[in-house]
Amino acid sequence: MRSFLLVPALLALLALNVSAQQLTLDAMIERDIASWLTTYKTLHGAPELSHREEKTSAFVAGELRKLGFTVTERIGKYQNAEWVSYGIVGVLKNGPGPTVLVRTELDALPVEEKTGLPYASQVKTKNDAGVEVSVMHACGHDLHMTSFLGTAKLLTELKSRWSGTLVMLGQPAEETGDGARAMLLDDVYTKIPKPDFAIALHDEPKLETGKVGYTPGYSMASATSIDVKIKGLGGHGSAPETTKDPVVVAAQVVMALQTIVSRENSPLDPAVVTVGSIHGGTRYNIIPDEVNLQLTVRTYKEEVRKRILASIERIVKGIATTAGIPEDRSPIVKVSEGTGSLYNDPQLIERLASVFKQALGDENVVKMPPIMASEDFGYFSLDQKIPTTLFWLGASEPAKVKAYRETGAALPGLHSALFAPVPESTLRTGVKAMSSAVLELMKR
Ligand SMILES: [Zn+2]
Ligand SMILES: [Zn+2]
Repeated sequence: MRSFLLVPALLALLALNVSAQQLTLDAMIERDIASWLTTYKTLHGAPELSHREEKTSAFVAGELRKLGFTVTERIGKYQNAEWVSYGIVGVLKNGPGPTVLVRTELDALPVEEKTGLPYASQVKTKNDAGVEVSVMHACGHDLHMTSFLGTAKLLTELKSRWSGTLVMLGQPAEETGDGARAMLLDDVYTKIPKPDFAIALHDEPKLETGKVGYTPGYSMASATSIDVKIKGLGGHGSAPETTKDPVVVAAQVVMALQTIVSRENSPLDPAVVTVGSIHGGTRYNIIPDEVNLQLTVRTYKEEVRKRILASIERIVKGIATTAGIPEDRSPIVKVSEGTGSLYNDPQLIERLASVFKQALGDENVVKMPPIMASEDFGYFSLDQKIPTTLFWLGASEPAKVKAYRETGAALPGLHSALFAPVPESTLRTGVKAMSSAVLELMKR
């Protein structure tokens, strides 16, 4: 009889002792996955465009506060003073040790979702031009936010296993490339402890869910937008001798620009010069006054970027001069500030990769090649002074990735209206990888 009484008492004691500190990450993820799926679907159904992440940032800030983080909202300054920057940071101090920054993005894209999923976004809003657009988390930032909040939750429960300061940072306007810069222009590192490490993840549809990928060194390129205005002297299409035809100059410019990468740049320094837009003229028989081009330049190294920008200016102006366009109608080359490249600190990423292998299994951690797409996370490294890394989070059904690799079957990528990541296993992997990464960097 007495022993029977002991059993419930022992069980109660056990329940007390089996606190979160003793649960494995897997058990904690199992416990919370249903609620994370709800969070994910809620965020997925309520996407907000860049520069307008008001409700999303308030939600993430609220969740961090509930977990005990000291939260600061509305960090950031844009060039356009009408925009509010919805950057947030949550700080959790837990004894001496390194400061680790974990970033998520908050924004979504003007894309009309066509996945047909029950939780597909129906959101429509007006863009900056006042035009109604649909909005979708077509880049998976909803997955990132949910993994971020899951990681924050587990780490608050696992405080006995780490020591240091955890900074959870929600960045607005990643898609427009000005959110990270806005936060730094607002001196974010004076509002929070300056990190010793900064880490982020990004979903990758071409990698199977359950896996993570990593790229040491330069992994994403800088992106710079350039507007070129070629001014000619318009006139009748039947009398070219009375004009300076900007269409012909523009055609020569487009072709000549191809020689920058092929002839002026070292083949060992990846670079891209793309003319993505060319507009001029109104009809068959009018030689227009001007033609406008829009270019994107991608490089890893800053010195390569600077050299290419100088080459573009030289070539454009040189061709206009050769065509006899007078000095006062010389072309205008306007460089918009773009996004810096992303350099994954090799020591840091290799350290994390070995932690990922322990957490997820060797077969689920894949080294991946760099790409020329862009991401503004690199700004948080302060020109590579703070070791920074972003790793890829596999997001697609393995069978679909296999079919894509073997037969080229369609696999909707990031920014596609059909992008439909597998939420559950991707969230499990995202939280596990990110939590393991932070625990490694701040382990007692
Ligand atoms: Zn994106
Ligand atoms: Zn993205």
